[in-house]
Amino acid sequence: MVQLRPDADDVGDEPTTFGVWSGDRRVATLVAQVNASASALEVTVADPVHATLTECGDLLHAVVTRARDIAARQVEVTTVDPLLRQAAVRAGFERTLRGPLRCRADGTTVPSPPAPDSADPPGPADAGQMAATLASLTGVGVVVVPASSWISRMARGAVAGFAGMVKCSVDPQDGGRALALTVPNRSDVILESVALTVDIALGVRRRFGSAIDHLRTVSFDHSSHGLKGGRYAGEAHANASIISLNASYVLALVLDEDRRNRPAVPGRDLAFLPPAFTGLERTAAHELWHQIEATFEARRYGASIEFRRRLGAHLGVETLEHAIRGREHDAPAPWRAAQRRLVDEVSDYGGSLPGEATAEMFEQWWCPVRQLSPVVRHFGELVDEYFPAPG
Ligand SMILES: [Zn+2]
Repeated sequence: MVQLRPDADDVGDEPTTFGVWSGDRRVATLVAQVNASASALEVTVADPVHATLTECGDLLHAVVTRARDIAARQVEVTTVDPLLRQAAVRAGFERTLRGPLRCRADGTTVPSPPAPDSADPPGPADAGQMAATLASLTGVGVVVVPASSWISRMARGAVAGFAGMVKCSVDPQDGGRALALTVPNRSDVILESVALTVDIALGVRRRFGSAIDHLRTVSFDHSSHGLKGGRYAGEAHANASIISLNASYVLALVLDEDRRNRPAVPGRDLAFLPPAFTGLERTAAHELWHQIEATFEARRYGASIEFRRRLGAHLGVETLEHAIRGREHDAPAPWRAAQRRLVDEVSDYGGSLPGEATAEMFEQWWCPVRQLSPVVRHFGELVDEYFPAPG
């Protein structure tokens, strides 16, 4: 069982910060306050969340119990944590994509924590139900593609690293071409996370039009060694019109296992507000940029060189390549300074290769979780100039 314990210095104050404790482990931090009309308990869960699936269920149960204790009629939970959201859906909370989770607290039942079922292997998903849920979450058309029509081209599962895969066709309903979506055929797939990814892919396609019109498939799989081993979050197969995302990101039992094997350290977490985007959405944006950039280089080579030169100029070097080579021990001082800016303002990974620098910048620009750094802001201006928004 988990317990909500107010952080000592906050007792009596509104809003109140609580540590969520499972034994001697602090598995989450949340801020709770009653809304103006005293009808709802509003809870914001800080990231990261370390709670397992069972602990997530217990956490929600504790929150609803607290709401009843103070006679609030409704509970509203804001979080981007996929496992906590999955537990909430299983406990009967209502949700919309990226919206808060809502549940009545004045009814006769308090959502009970889901039974710990992680020991059981997941059964196959109901593919039709999966497509219907994805359609309702994304607001576009999603239908299952019967296996017979595509199985001959792809020995199902063998390529993807899973025993079975479900393939769906996503109709963006904006005149654009359908997108194929493949996910493992398992009952623990977190459909909300899949829906978020579809939403990002369709949003990027609408904004970038012909620059990414070759994208045909978004796949959640373990098709490569790197994805299976968890080394890579995603892969954009060059010119292969497919982005593969690590299926482990969307499998509740894998995330649960991961949290059970990496217990949270006791003590107080830094309470970050929940970011606006999940790691999965950011990864999807990153991979989508690789696709856009590959087309950019193939179709508009001169412009793509100019783009990197202008990015480099912002960093005080001739071209982005020099900022990357600033890692070399004998690099000129301006190159080294530009490398430091890439690492500080983008990420370590963004300092490793020119294509990763731009992919990391795109990720931060498309899915901002903090104020944009100067170089990322400049990147966004260049993107708007080289890829004007439609209409
Ligand atoms: Zn990359």
